[in-house]
Amino acid sequence: MLNLIIFGPPGAGKGTQSERLIENYGLCHISTGDLFRWHTKNDTELGQKVKEIMDSGQLVSDDITIAMLKEEVEKNPDAKGFLFDGFPRTVDQAKALDNLMESMGTKIHSVIELKVTEEEVRQRIAKRKELENRVDDASDKLDRRISEYFNKTVHVLPYYEDQGRLSTVNGIGDIDDISKEIDKTVSALEV
Ligand code: ADP
Repeated sequence: MLNLIIFGPPGAGKGTQSERLIENYGLCHISTGDLFRWHTKNDTELGQKVKEIMDSGQLVSDDITIAMLKEEVEKNPDAKGFLFDGFPRTVDQAKALDNLMESMGTKIHSVIELKVTEEEVRQRIAKRKELENRVDDASDKLDRRISEYFNKTVHVLPYYEDQGRLSTVNGIGDIDDISKEIDKTVSALEV
């Protein structure tokens, strides 16, 4: 199994690079943001619980997020590996994910951090807003999400760095060049 995490601020290019990773390595993609959006859109019990928090750009509680993630992993017992996107966002989530992987006899091999500055991210999202119309891209919420990332979520990175599981890739530049860089990193992993 090959299990990866794609990590970066909103607008870092996680979606684009995730698509390529899934295709190249046959991974099962689990995006907690997409899952939460699905639940709110379909007005499920979980969706009703998290809607307000999501709309304000804050993080959903660890309990709820971890339970949802676990359920999703368990739905895919035959997966060749997983690509986690938007998760973990706290050290407690990272530890829960390690425990889950261990219980399956596997592990997280690497965290691929797409490094992009706050300024670049703000410019990109302004552009994306013209093309798509994601409710959580509204600028006040967006401010909150970007701040959440640069003030809180980044604190997960040292957890992986200390264990030699962090691969940082420059997320600014040509999309194909970034993909190649990621590919080099993943190919060099001992799986
Ligand atoms: P972004 O594009 O800002 O990176 P996502 O699409 O990953 O955001 O997630 C959208 C929203 O879903 C977040 O702002 C947050 O409210 C909630 N969410 C997603 N993943 C998590 C998580 N791992 N922990 C807590 N909340 C999460």
